[in-house]
Amino acid sequence: MKVKRKAVILSSGGIDSTTAMAVARDEGFELYSLSFDYGQRHAVELEAAGRVAEALGARRHLVIRIDLRAIGGSALTTDIAVPHGRSEQELASGIPVTYVPARNTVFLSYALAWAEVLEASDIFIGVNAVDYSGYPDCRPEYIQAFETMANLATKAAVEGKRRIAIRTPLIHMTKAEIIRKGTELGINFQLTHSCYDPDTQGRACGDCDSCLLRKKGFREADIPDPTIYGV
Ligand SMILES: [Zn+2]
Repeated sequence: MKVKRKAVILSSGGIDSTTAMAVARDEGFELYSLSFDYGQRHAVELEAAGRVAEALGARRHLVIRIDLRAIGGSALTTDIAVPHGRSEQELASGIPVTYVPARNTVFLSYALAWAEVLEASDIFIGVNAVDYSGYPDCRPEYIQAFETMANLATKAAVEGKRRIAIRTPLIHMTKAEIIRKGTELGINFQLTHSCYDPDTQGRACGDCDSCLLRKKGFREADIPDPTIYGV
């Protein structure tokens, strides 16, 4: 039997990382899902990541605990209020308070370490530079720089055994295109969670930046939004 190639997929339980995982599955990779309990406001996203890993048949789903709350600096890791009801123009300008300092660098570094142990050469991350929140660590030049670093930093790469590829299948797609792609690949987006500020029952608020992008994506894709919004 042919041994399947392995991929590490960073999973937040949201639309983008779930679609990235479905792309990896479609390419025939054995899936190793990686999530972080980093001190984010709500556990619902970790529950979503667990559901997604199970639904997509991940070989393993690893949750690593790191305390970014000790560092703070973001509305997701401190008591800074999450913005609600911002206009499209506001969404498109500047880096919002929901930016978590260096988060993707921290996450990709863990993914790189796990990939080296698994002997995986592909790391999937669902970053997107079109319908995104303005975070600097979602841009192509950042990903390229991380990949260059990864191939200088790991034993397997330096010994010439394995090059690491940071795979960003969604980077040039709109949210609507991502939703269409995920739907084609059989994802039930009801499993996913995007909201930065859910209620105590885990229901999405409907008007934080992440909810607004999600709603716009479903609307533009002309696919019914399965999300349950609170009141
Ligand atoms: Zn929300």
